[in-house]
Formats: sequence, structure tokens, C-alpha cells
Amino acid sequence: MSIVYLNGEYVPKEEAVISVDDRGFLFGDGIYEVTAAYRGSLFRWDLHLARMNRGLSALRIDFDPTELEEVHLQLLKENSLQEAPVAFVYTHITRGVAPRTHQFPSDPVAPTVYMFAGEYSRPPRNRWEEGYKAVTVHDQRWARVDLKTIQLLPNVLGKQAAIDAGVDECIYVKDGMAIEGALNNFFTVFGNTVVTHPTSNQILPGITREALFGVAEKLGYEVEVRAITIEEMFQADEAFHTGTLTEVKPCVEIDGRPVGTGKVGPVTRALFDGFLEVAGRKD
Ligand code: PLP
Repeated sequence: MSIVYLNGEYVPKEEAVISVDDRGFLFGDGIYEVTAAYRGSLFRWDLHLARMNRGLSALRIDFDPTELEEVHLQLLKENSLQEAPVAFVYTHITRGVAPRTHQFPSDPVAPTVYMFAGEYSRPPRNRWEEGYKAVTVHDQRWARVDLKTIQLLPNVLGKQAAIDAGVDECIYVKDGMAIEGALNNFFTVFGNTVVTHPTSNQILPGITREALFGVAEKLGYEVEVRAITIEEMFQADEAFHTGTLTEVKPCVEIDGRPVGTGKVGPVTRALFDGFLEVAGRKD
């Protein structure tokens, strides 16, 4: 039985009830976060906290998520996930419950905080070694995708476009540039150089992306943070996606065309192994 957290209480999931007047339900008025826990240790909690604070402040939701670190740990405990190789905790914070008006509620209401934990099932290494395929999808998201808001319809449609095409991932393209995935960031590799889109309002600043920079530097790869054109993407030696529930996922084919040799490359493999080492270490 899964135990979830809702507004200060730990309850069986079946007993967690949210009002139909919740602004998350009515307007998508809120933010979310997904934090990995490697054998019970939260990975880069400070960065997740900072990203939540940034989102809450941009949406003008008055809530301090600092206290949620405890809730993350408690949820892992309640669900016997402390020893799981990789677990995750999902956090969903909405502006709260109020009669439906577009403007903020006139009387302040408490935000709704809903959280749950689960185990991440990493694909077996032999599956990973086969690589994954992607399709490009025109990026029609709003202009603040740097905020991790719960409005994810374009992401839902992007991922579904990949599934409909019989592949695993999508790559958003906009103004001739390859930007990121529907639920992950996107990297290309040229020789010993790893390239990814700059932090801006056009991508979500991924915490795995950030961690990868450190791993790449340690392994002696150059990191270039710049936009890459679609033509350039098709010339890359390797490509991969990164994310909390993606880790490092090799992309070996895009729109039916092989990336490099069409096989998982040495740089992606070294970065994934380096990432697992960093993530698995108790700091
Ligand atoms: N980009 C998008 C659109 C995402 O939804 C996510 C994760 O949910 C990421 C990138 C990767 O971010 P992180 O590495 O912090 O999980």
C-alpha cells in the first residue's frame, strides 16, 4: 500500500482527497518537482529546493518548501524505499482551493501540497546498450518553460508523438534549433566535446544536466553550452537525454536517421558510468 503526503498528513493513497476547486485542477496553477534518492540519499536536494523556490516566487505562491526535505525522507521510510538503489519523490504544490476566478483568491488560501514516492526502475544495462530512438517535435510550449509548472500538455503530446512513432523520446525543435526533450534535457557529442542548450526561458534547467557538467569536466571532456541547429544535430557523433527519471539515456536514432554510428558511443557510456558513481556516492 502506497503512503502519500497531503497537506501535513501521511495517508494511504486511496484516502488522499483533493477538492474540485483546487486551482491546480482548474488552472494548472502550481509547480512540481521530482527528486531522486539513491539508497535513501536525496540527490542534489539544495538544487531542487532552489528550483522550487524560484518557481513559487515566479508564480507568487507564498510557501517555504525547506521543510519538505523531512517529508521526502519520511515518505521514503513510510514506503520502505530507503534502501532502494534509486527511488524518487514527487512534489506537487498548487495555489490552493478557492472558488474559480482567474485572478488569485481575494482571501489568502493555504497552498495544496501533495507528495508521493516510488521506485525508479532503471532499464537493464543490455537494454540501455541498445540505445533509444527519438523523433523531433515542433516546440509549441509557453515562453517560461524554465519554471517547472504543472501545466504539461505540450509535454504529454510530445511524449505521445514519440510513442505513436514507435520510439522512446522526443526532441523539441524551435527556430531551427534542437532544444530539449519532453521530460529531459538533450545533449550532443562532437569528438570530445559535449554540447547542450544554454539555460534560458526555453529549457528547464535540469539538475541532472547540471550534474553532468561536473562529470564531464572530471572525465576531461569539453562542455559547450550553446544552441545547436537541427542540421548540426544530425552530424553529431553521439546524443543523449538527461533527467531525474531518465538519468543518462543514449539516443541512437532521430527521425529514422542514425546518430553517428547508430550505436551507443563511448562518451555517453563514460558519462553515464561517471554519473552513476557521483549519484551513488553518499556525500
Ligand atoms: N526538461 C524537461 C522539460 C523536464 O520535464 C525535465 C524533468 O522533468 C528535465 C528537463 C530534466 O530535469 P531534471 O534533470 O532536474 O530532472
